Amino acid sequence: MGKPHVVIVGGGATGAALAHDLTLRGVRVTIVERGEVTSGTTGRHHGLLHSGARYAVKDQESAKECIQENMILRKIAPGTFELNNGLFVAITDEDMAYHDAFLAGLETCAIPYQEITTQEALQREPNLNPAVKAAVEVPDGTMDAMRLPLRFLATAQHNGAVIKTYTQVTKLLMKDKTVVGVRVRDHVTEKTYDIGADLVVNAAGAWSDKIAAMAGVHVPMQPSPGVLVAVYGRWNNMVLNRMHRSGDGDIILPQRTLSVIGTSSWVVKDPDQLEMKKEHIELMYKMGAMLVPAVKNAPMRAAWAAARPLIGSESGATTGRELSRTFKCFDHEDRDNVIGFVTITGGKATTARGMAEVTANVVVEKLGLDVACRTREVVLLPHTAYYRRGV
Ligand SMILES: Cc1cc2nc3c(=O)[nH]c(=O)nc-3n(C[C@H](O)[C@H](O)[C@H](O)COP(=O)(O)OP(=O)(O)OC[C@H]3O[C@@H](n4cnc5c(N)ncnc54)[C@H](O)[C@@H]3O)c2cc1C
Repeated sequence: MGKPHVVIVGGGATGAALAHDLTLRGVRVTIVERGEVTSGTTGRHHGLLHSGARYAVKDQESAKECIQENMILRKIAPGTFELNNGLFVAITDEDMAYHDAFLAGLETCAIPYQEITTQEALQREPNLNPAVKAAVEVPDGTMDAMRLPLRFLATAQHNGAVIKTYTQVTKLLMKDKTVVGVRVRDHVTEKTYDIGADLVVNAAGAWSDKIAAMAGVHVPMQPSPGVLVAVYGRWNNMVLNRMHRSGDGDIILPQRTLSVIGTSSWVVKDPDQLEMKKEHIELMYKMGAMLVPAVKNAPMRAAWAAARPLIGSESGATTGRELSRTFKCFDHEDRDNVIGFVTITGGKATTARGMAEVTANVVVEKLGLDVACRTREVVLLPHTAYYRRGV
């Protein structure tokens, strides 16, 4: 008997990490992605390797996932990150009021930290707002949004995964209540054809509910876009964060010779409707200047938006800030009586490997395989190996 075949819908961080996990467990994998790989939310995120500190007070499940994955990624993807650490700084009295809860949250979530003096903070980050009242160092880092998923994809490809880009799923093929494959449209050849599968995983991020609807089931997605602004000049070397409840424009991340200010948050019904609001760009400048006053006059290199794949009730959320950054794996057989279909969504780019491990555990059990996860140890191929396919 040949290897079981799994089709993964979506070539973002989540689909990439899952393809890597499943190929290591001896599963035949095909990824179908409607655009280029990472062309969804993944290729447009802020570039922060989260330590979890941002979520340590209000979203501790996500904070714990972030610190665990942060430590694993450092081992399996050496060279992908700038290990510059992050500094959470209190600028206002309101920020100071958050200080004790912040340290308590870091303790609870087992996020390593060190409080440094404001004098030391200003020595290390001379462009930091001199009004700084407190500073705490945590293991945040800078990453290239595309290179980490490309490393997952390169390694999966090396282990036999087939990656079909510009290939959009238009229908899930069903036999009674079982998903048996996907119908796709190849946007290059303009041909439509079917791909059979023993199981289909929906890793379509903010589009997950659209894919789920093709099987007649519902995933409670709340796409939540945010705007990011890159300005010329590397104004800080560490990732600077405001020490307060997550808000607008309260992170400045150094990326090569640029500084990226982020982000805002609102909710939409359709993740393809990403309106770039001028007020949001202005807000990034205004709030970014609270951390580093000089960014106020830094020329803009680029501004863009992307939609977070948040899980939540459609009516309950207004800004997206109230929704958790944790992830969920939906087993549609257990939940909806639809066989051969699993959805993995939510989470962060930082936690994609962990999301994949949980999902692959569900998938291999359904396929009757008994193979353990190896992605905590296997070092990934370099991102450049992805482009050498077929050469
Ligand atoms: C503004 C912003 C900043 C962020 N910053 C960070 C950060 O600094 N650090 C961090 O860790 N996380 C960050 N995140 C979160 C992170 O970007 C996402 O959690 C992650 O990228 C989601 O990956 P994914 O693979 O699940 O989704 P996606 O990357 O969106 O992948 C889903 C894919 O499915 C494809 N697809 C959709 N429909 C179909 C179809 N019918 N057929 C085939 N393919 C289809 C899409 O094209 C897409 O490529 C940020 C998010 C936003 C919005």
